[in-house]
Amino acid sequence: MMHLRPQEIQANNSGDAAIAFIGVHKYFGGDETNPVLTGIDLEIRVGEIFCLMGTSGSGKSTLLRLVNRLIAPSSGAIRVHGRDLAKLDPAALRGLRAQTVGMVFQDFGLLPHRTALENVELPLELRQVPPAERSAAARLQLERVGLAEAADKHPSQLSGGMRQRVGLARALVGRPDILLMDEPFGALDPTIRRDLRQQVTELVRRNGITTLLVTHDPAEALAMADRIAVLRDGVIVQVATPEEIVAHPADAGVADFFGGAV
Ligand code: ADP
Ligand code: MG
Repeated sequence: MMHLRPQEIQANNSGDAAIAFIGVHKYFGGDETNPVLTGIDLEIRVGEIFCLMGTSGSGKSTLLRLVNRLIAPSSGAIRVHGRDLAKLDPAALRGLRAQTVGMVFQDFGLLPHRTALENVELPLELRQVPPAERSAAARLQLERVGLAEAADKHPSQLSGGMRQRVGLARALVGRPDILLMDEPFGALDPTIRRDLRQQVTELVRRNGITTLLVTHDPAEALAMADRIAVLRDGVIVQVATPEEIVAHPADAGVADFFGGAV
């Protein structure tokens, strides 16, 4: 199947952004003098794989968690498919988290006492999908990530790579439009990381899922991203394609960051 470039998908969607951050500031615990994010303006296009890069503590996870409203901005707005998250009522917010947006965590976030299948069923349970239907959907999703045979195993019986594929299946089972991934491959060894990176890229491309991926691995960002934003101390210092960022880094810090990866 022909792969639509994000620009073309964008054109088909009359230019609406999947996610927009508009003048977002965030500080924690009332400490205005010590913001974690400062003046974030950013648009993620429909169908694009967008990487958030930056060293530890630069604010990547905070930015990601604003998208499904695990946290709220101190000022500014976040829009998902044009809807201001501050204006969603509790039911719409549940829909956002259970339906629109799927999330994958670095530490997998699986429930240890549940089997792989039961973990994948979880989002559908929250949406009160009937048992037979949700188990069928979860099985299909496990097959898609190559884990059909592991359905009845518990997380402790699975390797790191398999656990993260269960995490991915769980994030995708509700057929989200948007996938948020916070250093999803960080806990895996390099070979498995590359395999999974490729598998995720194919899955999200095939399904046209807008993907916001946090990583501190420049090679990963260059390999996967349509565009990359570099975050430093809560400020975006550059947004560019992988090619642009390598050819024209915004400053010596960005050059340094990506220099080792090419
Ligand atoms: P990254 O994911 O890039 O490593 P984070 O977004 O996790 O960065 O954190 C950015 C900064 O915000 C860090 O200094 C961190 O200590 C702080 N921070 C994150 N979450 C909280 C919180 N819930 N309360 C207080 N400070 C926080
Ligand atoms: Mg983080």
